[in-house]
Amino acid sequence: MIDFHCHLDLYPNPDQVVEECKKCELYVLSVTTTPSAWNGTSSLARNAARIRTALGLHPQIAHERLGELPLFDKLLPEARYVGEIGLDGAPEFQPHWQKQITVFEHILAQCVQAGGRIMSVHSRRAAQPVLDRIKAFPGAGTTVLHWFSGSTKELKHAIELQCWFSVGPAMFNSAKGRALISQMPTNRVLTETDGPFVNVDGVPLMPWDVDSSIKELSKMWAISEDETQQALLNNLRELVSS
Ligand code: MN
Repeated sequence: MIDFHCHLDLYPNPDQVVEECKKCELYVLSVTTTPSAWNGTSSLARNAARIRTALGLHPQIAHERLGELPLFDKLLPEARYVGEIGLDGAPEFQPHWQKQITVFEHILAQCVQAGGRIMSVHSRRAAQPVLDRIKAFPGAGTTVLHWFSGSTKELKHAIELQCWFSVGPAMFNSAKGRALISQMPTNRVLTETDGPFVNVDGVPLMPWDVDSSIKELSKMWAISEDETQQALLNNLRELVSS
């Protein structure tokens, strides 16, 4: 199983969650929201071969953490994965839009300079502005759009730009989310939870809760759950070797 976007460091008991992930042989992309979280969060995974840590600066706090960009640049050579980065167009974050753009473009330019990274990208209510930047920085690496919620037209654009997608329970629970997932190229889809930010029935999702998305994908793709697992692992292998 794969959870390609979760915030291990934000669970109240991250070491226990890591142990459980190891038991389940789960592949995890452990994203961070600030460069200053990098050291602590990557040390969580030091004895877990299947857990990778991503260096990030979350768009919702870009305005507060702009000052950490030099730290981002300093740490980037150590990080093969970058995330969570992106833009958030929700009204509460609109006042900081310019700062979000500054941070996102700075990070993309740094990724170009570093030779490209695999990036987990947030695009809530900002699909087109995110895609415009991805297009403007083609050497930044491979974009995995996490919890994509744009329009069908924006999805097509993202597919043309060779984006990947990580999909989770929140998407399967909405008709629009399901419609989007059904139009994604099956060889560019991974599963995610975005835990512990996402709750189902008042309980935060755990990384191994991706099993429900495997079931959903298996129905959508009309193949067995084993075949779905295999397809997702093949996708991960393909992404990582890109
Ligand atoms: Mn997230």
